[in-house]
Amino acid sequence: MTDIKSFTFEELKEIGAKLSWEKYRAQQVFLWLWQKGVNSFDEMTNLSKEFRDRLRKEYHISHLVPERRRESADQTTKFTFPLKDGLLVESVFIIDQNRRTVCVSTQVGCSLGCRFCATARMGFKRNLAWYEIVEQIQAVGREMKLAPTNVVFMGMGEPLFNWQEVAEAIRTINSNYGLKIGARRITVSTAGIPEGIHQVAEFPYQVRLAVSLNATTDAVRSRLMPINNRYPLKRLFSAVRYYVEKTKRRVTFEYVLIDGVNNLREDALRLVTILRDIPCKINLIPYNPIPGSEFKPPTLRSVENFAHILYPYLPAVTIRQSRGARISAGCGQLAVNLS
Ligand code: SAH
Repeated sequence: MTDIKSFTFEELKEIGAKLSWEKYRAQQVFLWLWQKGVNSFDEMTNLSKEFRDRLRKEYHISHLVPERRRESADQTTKFTFPLKDGLLVESVFIIDQNRRTVCVSTQVGCSLGCRFCATARMGFKRNLAWYEIVEQIQAVGREMKLAPTNVVFMGMGEPLFNWQEVAEAIRTINSNYGLKIGARRITVSTAGIPEGIHQVAEFPYQVRLAVSLNATTDAVRSRLMPINNRYPLKRLFSAVRYYVEKTKRRVTFEYVLIDGVNNLREDALRLVTILRDIPCKINLIPYNPIPGSEFKPPTLRSVENFAHILYPYLPAVTIRQSRGARISAGCGQLAVNLS
């Protein structure tokens, strides 16, 4: 039986038109599925019994049920969800005052091979479909009994290598018939895929863009992130500049600080030179150790020093509290089935 949640809003309207549903039926059904998050057709109380019976004969309603849930003292919860084909993905819920953010995965595993990231060790398994992405948000909200206010595409995978599905997910997350989360509360994070950054620039939703920069020279960046061999800093920054000009929005740069590798005074000074004329925010992320890695986290003092060098030139610098690190829910710690 077909999963009715696999249809986009547009597809559901087309189905409705073909089957001569009344015009508003598709909207009602979509809203029940994605805004109310019902688990059965019987809960769709404004539809006639006969109409519900018809739907029930043709479709089922899928939803993700976590196989594992881990909570940490800092109000961060990590969920592991089995997918239909048995593969697993992880999502993280982070509470910060009034902000309730879901960090979603866009792929099972990842193809980029960043040396400091646990997800890279899984290798790439497959892309997620748009509804598997949105369903993570819905399932987390359902489990937490709290509606998410923000979404970050910062879980497993490279969103811009699965852009069509991510774009469709954003439409539903933002839709008045879907999760109704404002575009400005949605952040797409990329390791730096120029073509993808162009696509986000052309995308008619005001989502935020974050770029995982992590180094200030091609030599160091290529060592940490092999994707930099294909798209070196020059190409990355010409895409970033295009994005800024086109959208007039600021870009967030994420910078994972690794002791002795990219956290030296010279790195901070080079970062100032690179970012000075780009409207941006900088998010410093102290490296979260992953098993068997050669890298060491920076001392708190060195993180503060780094921030202090940037601050006079780049005042929008923040240090990301390492949330959920103790339950392996921190940045770069999402990975399943690693032995
Ligand atoms: N592929 C996308 C989405 C993943 S976001 C991207 O690279 O942006 C995950 C973020 O966590 C990235 O900014 C990455 O640089 C950071 N990260 C990865 N491993 C980490 C680790 N071990 N400690 C801290 N941050 C890490």
